[in-house]
Amino acid sequence: MLDGKHYINGEWLSSGDGVIEVKNPATGELFGTVPNGGKDEATRAVEAAAAAFPEWSRKTVYERSALLMKWHDLLLEQKEEIGRILTMEMGKPLSEAIGEVEYSASFVHWFAEEAKRMYGRTIPASKEGKRIQVNKQPVGVVASITPWNFPAAMIARKIAPALATGCTFVAKPAKLTPLTAVKMVELAEQAGFPKGVINLVTGSASAIGEVFTTHPDIRKLTFTGSTEIGKELMKQSSERMLNLSLELGGHAPIIVLEDADLDLAVAGTMASKFRNAGQTCVCGNRIYVQESILDEFTEKLAQAAGKLKVGNGLDEGVEIGPLVDQGGYEKVDQHVRDAVDKGAKIVVGGEGKAENGSYFYNPTVLSGASSDMLVMNEETFGPVAPVMPFKTDEEAVKLANDTRFGLAAYFFTESMSRGTYLAENLEYGIVGWNDGAPSTAQAPFGGMKESGIGREGGQEGLEAFLETKYISIQV
Ligand code: ADP
Repeated sequence: MLDGKHYINGEWLSSGDGVIEVKNPATGELFGTVPNGGKDEATRAVEAAAAAFPEWSRKTVYERSALLMKWHDLLLEQKEEIGRILTMEMGKPLSEAIGEVEYSASFVHWFAEEAKRMYGRTIPASKEGKRIQVNKQPVGVVASITPWNFPAAMIARKIAPALATGCTFVAKPAKLTPLTAVKMVELAEQAGFPKGVINLVTGSASAIGEVFTTHPDIRKLTFTGSTEIGKELMKQSSERMLNLSLELGGHAPIIVLEDADLDLAVAGTMASKFRNAGQTCVCGNRIYVQESILDEFTEKLAQAAGKLKVGNGLDEGVEIGPLVDQGGYEKVDQHVRDAVDKGAKIVVGGEGKAENGSYFYNPTVLSGASSDMLVMNEETFGPVAPVMPFKTDEEAVKLANDTRFGLAAYFFTESMSRGTYLAENLEYGIVGWNDGAPSTAQAPFGGMKESGIGREGGQEGLEAFLETKYISIQV
């Protein structure tokens, strides 16, 4: 049993309205608790971050980066332990969980280095005696709200650039997965960040969210989660013109052209679709396959999906863990039933088992999918791969773009010209060309349309935490 706490102004506190229980979705067992904090805790954390800001932002980027590097080293040293916590609170296989910790650390490393290059510029003036300077400075106190599907990475890729630029931080992890965040913040404390620079508050999302969107000391809110909550937060913070980064839902298409390397296409589809049991915002949600290779592709995909080992993520060799909760399980099952009702065929999988607080769903491939099915329109967040045929490249792009989302899209082709056409015409922030796993610390991650605003990772991910100040000088 883990007993998590808030971390506010360098102290571990357990105030709040009782506790939140964290359960293991593979077994239904109670795994730990965190305090059910609210407005008071959030306000204190914001005030601590505001008090710490002047000194932290005045430090040189070299001092800040050195602390981030210490944190990075500790995260890697303890990746197995953090990975175990992560698996036990959200279910993903241990190897994926450890991989997520490494991925998180890679953001800390990359931003610790990149922040040394937050250059401003000087611009030639049009009048003698004028000097035009453009400076970059940290936005100020940043608040984050993050989801349960990547309990470590979603926080790391927000905290790292924010701290590197000189911002101070208040994090609210997801209710289902707060203990990974608690562990990461313990390591940040060990790394030696000054008090108030990083704060963590657990508890009521709406109460804490309200403080984050309305408190005058908050200068930026960075959120990863559903489009619906993202819109709600945008409304709440509109009075203050709050600087927002929103990484929201997706509904990724995967397009397989007839000239694709089929084994590569199957491997890429497996990587995109079944990682984290299909519970990622960049998961392929609908697969469009050119008619002439439809049967061969579907058969190979079903074979690969049928071999995946389902079980408790702590067990050796497990590749698909449980879905995170009952709601998640029911949604996946509903998508499969709806597809079957509308004419899809189950090639493999198509059922699961939810009992005693554990929620396993078998990797599923559906053939004969059509555009009227829920699974082809709404985020499934589960291990279900519906396959639908298309005739021409133009049709594939049209089908792929016919959604309010625009986060990630994937396609497989060996043709430079067809691939270029697809890459340039897909209305998505992230495009994987023969690549089912494009995300990496040095590249900008984020969506178009209702998938959000802003980018995380890359130079853009640093810029997100900077204000641009233009200084006009008459000498
Ligand atoms: P998910 O499907 O990933 O759970 P949500 O958008 O529901 O997506 O949740 C993402 C994060 O947003 C979680 O940390 C959750 O606690 C938080 N959240 C949910 N509702 C609100 C709200 N009204 N205000 C602020 N945060 C919220």
